[in-house]
Amino acid sequence: MNDSVPYLDLQAQLRPLRAELEAAIGRVLDNCTFCLGPEVAAFENEFAQAIDVRHCVGLNSGTSALHIAMRVLGIGPGDEVITTPFTFVATSWAISYVGARPVYADIEERTFNLDPYLVERAITPRTKAILTVHLYGHPCDLDALGEICRKHNLALVEDAAQAHGAKFKGRHAGTFGEIGCFSFYPTKNLAACGEGGAMVTNNDALAARARALRDHGSTKRYYHDELGYNYRMEGIQAAVLRVKLKHLARWNTARRRIAQRYNELLADTPLQLPCEMPDCESAWHLYVVRHPKRDQLRQYLETHGIGCAMHYPLPLHLQKAYVHLGYKPGDLPVAERAARECLCLPMYPELTDAQIERVARTVKEFFATCGAV
Ligand SMILES: *Cc1c(COP(=O)(O)O)cnc(C)c1O
Repeated sequence: MNDSVPYLDLQAQLRPLRAELEAAIGRVLDNCTFCLGPEVAAFENEFAQAIDVRHCVGLNSGTSALHIAMRVLGIGPGDEVITTPFTFVATSWAISYVGARPVYADIEERTFNLDPYLVERAITPRTKAILTVHLYGHPCDLDALGEICRKHNLALVEDAAQAHGAKFKGRHAGTFGEIGCFSFYPTKNLAACGEGGAMVTNNDALAARARALRDHGSTKRYYHDELGYNYRMEGIQAAVLRVKLKHLARWNTARRRIAQRYNELLADTPLQLPCEMPDCESAWHLYVVRHPKRDQLRQYLETHGIGCAMHYPLPLHLQKAYVHLGYKPGDLPVAERAARECLCLPMYPELTDAQIERVARTVKEFFATCGAV
């Protein structure tokens, strides 16, 4: 179908930047600083400045950022970290990689983010940290989570992999906790041409240790102070990210406008639409609607040329990799229902008005024909 709407169109973003990106990559080909180097250092400074945080440590993925965060906070075997079951699995991997236990608290109905009341109830003497996610780009309740952390002396780590440029009370998501973790995976709001990630912090000591850990635990070549990793950011990815960072604010504004347009056009459908809570400025990474007939709607949209996706169809406490944690269906009912009902509609800055209208028209057709309750 020639008027089909793709779920995501990465070429639409790259096309107008092609010459600038080739020049930036060319600089790295000229000086051959492929792993870390001046482009990485420059990107770290520019990203830290853009989100107003002291340190940015460039890494090779968001998963690495989360892992390093757990390491520098000294979390390990016997420790518990309270986190959300409704996220990409990498959030939980980080806790498991250091031998600690993910403890899942259920989420809020409207934002799909951790419910602070349930987080506080999940605290035990073994709890060391809260690892929260700004899901779909919408900031969590950072006031409530920050307060719980202060009261119980816990570290707050923010998985901001979907929230580049999101704000809570005017301050950037990722800069509230001890550590913020970003991913620059190709589908994120700020995306490398390959893998990339970063850990940000205002704490000098945590930043210094993260810099050593990403480079085999060394500050002096071939002298290794502790077990480290090869988690370095690549020069080519940093060069690409520097070009794209200049456009992030404009792209996020376009995403916001698209979300508003969807909200207007879909207001009179039975869908639950995404919202922005008070004090929150979403990065609108995804536009996620929900309905009990999600699977039929998804099928209808796909057969009518509208790309869509599920983030995420199975919550983490019910994943096979985590059976040993001992959770059962029904333990986290809000997350489980969200996993059955959420559907992501096409969302990327270059989506046109005509495309948005076509998506909305097709959703309405579904409810007019096969969606009658
Ligand atoms: C993408 C993502 C990650 C993982 O980032 P990678 O760069 O792919 O390793 C972690 N958490 C969330 C919420 C994500 O969306």
